[in-house]
Amino acid sequence: MHEFRWRLLWLSIPTLLLCLLLWPLLGLEYAFGTLAFAAIAYLIAHFYWLEKFALWLKQPELAAMPIGSGIWEDVFAALYQEIRRQTSSHTELTSALERFQHAASALPDGVVLLNNNDQIEWCNPPAEIQLGLNPAQDTGQPIGYLVRQTEFTSYLQAQDYAEPIKLNTLRNPDITLEIQLIPFGDKQKLLLCRDITPMEKIETMRRDFIANVSHELRTPLTVVGGFLETMEDMGSGIPENMRQYYKLMQEQTLRMRRLVEDLLTLSQLESNRTTPQEIEIDVPSLLGMLMTEGESLSSGRHSLKLEMDKNLNLNGAAEELHSAFGNLVSNAIRYTPEGGDITLKWSMRGDNAVFSVTDTGLGIEPEHISRLTERFYRVDRSRSRSTGGTGLGLSIVKHILTRHQAKLEIQSEIGKGSTFGAVFPAARVIRKNLIGT
Ligand code: ADP
Repeated sequence: MHEFRWRLLWLSIPTLLLCLLLWPLLGLEYAFGTLAFAAIAYLIAHFYWLEKFALWLKQPELAAMPIGSGIWEDVFAALYQEIRRQTSSHTELTSALERFQHAASALPDGVVLLNNNDQIEWCNPPAEIQLGLNPAQDTGQPIGYLVRQTEFTSYLQAQDYAEPIKLNTLRNPDITLEIQLIPFGDKQKLLLCRDITPMEKIETMRRDFIANVSHELRTPLTVVGGFLETMEDMGSGIPENMRQYYKLMQEQTLRMRRLVEDLLTLSQLESNRTTPQEIEIDVPSLLGMLMTEGESLSSGRHSLKLEMDKNLNLNGAAEELHSAFGNLVSNAIRYTPEGGDITLKWSMRGDNAVFSVTDTGLGIEPEHISRLTERFYRVDRSRSRSTGGTGLGLSIVKHILTRHQAKLEIQSEIGKGSTFGAVFPAARVIRKNLIGT
């Protein structure tokens, strides 16, 4: 900028000085005449370069930029530098974008870039193969039109992308894909998909193995249990010094039978990916049954209470929910010392229906809470065994609740007690018609 000002001064000052010199020598007319001549020459020069500039702008190639003279030389030089800077940063950006596209194309996993209307902006070759996309036709199309499975549509609409989903493609149902959406920027999304068919096969083998082993163990255990019962019927037939061993055998056989039953339940739940049938469950009468079962398990050692909204039912699988709720009640009884209180509650919380079991038992330290639903995770192994636990109860509960789109909430304080709550979404809740009741 300073240079521009100097150039202006450096051209106009000598002209003015010349005029001032001519004034006393040749008179005012000559001085003004010279000034006017200089001004016109100056203007013509400006118009000339302006014209050149306008012409160049029609085809602005860097190599063809005029060089200019006077102040125009500076203008063109500054413009030249700016365009070169912009061209090089544009080239850098383009090559960075190309490198990113090459890297994303080389990924073994599928990547699809979605805009803020969930329309496809770009996808890499694995995504084309896995999702059957054709970039030439499908760019700009909403992803929901092209991946039509209901699991994906609900995942896209739910806006909760913390966990990936598993999907079998319509074109090849033997292929299992894991799909995750990752929001970024202004409501844009990255869709990642991975072929997990080999892992699914191993997982199926593991499930089948556990189911088969449990199934095979069932028969010998029933036989051993049966013989032990026959021996008990013999009564005095068991020698006195053998009685403690006999009792131990009975306890351990019962424990193994429980383990086998729980393992079978778990593997059935795991292999059954379909959502439970939409059947209305009469929750108040289910809770009535649970109270009776709980009282029999407690044998008068605890005080059991039931608080419920009698007009509240659920859509789901009755047997599964009986098992899940029963596990929570049995845990509360097993982990609450004699004289404790256990409260079963069934009510609405906002749009959700909640079944909770509160006890005044041992409580659980915070570091264990997030791990309780893992298989065979116990806070106190010996206590769990002595109360007849298998370490699989809460794992079964979690599976059943997940199948009902419900969540397990655990609150606990050491020495004060715990509350285990099953929170059901509004879609599963049925409010009974109150008219006429
Ligand atoms: P288990 O058969 O050992 O009871 P679960 O899966 O049902 O297995 O429970 C896992 C662990 O969580 C238990 O071993 C116990 O330590 C803890 N737990 C579950 N329910 C309660 C409760 N109501 N109070 C205290 N601890 C509990």
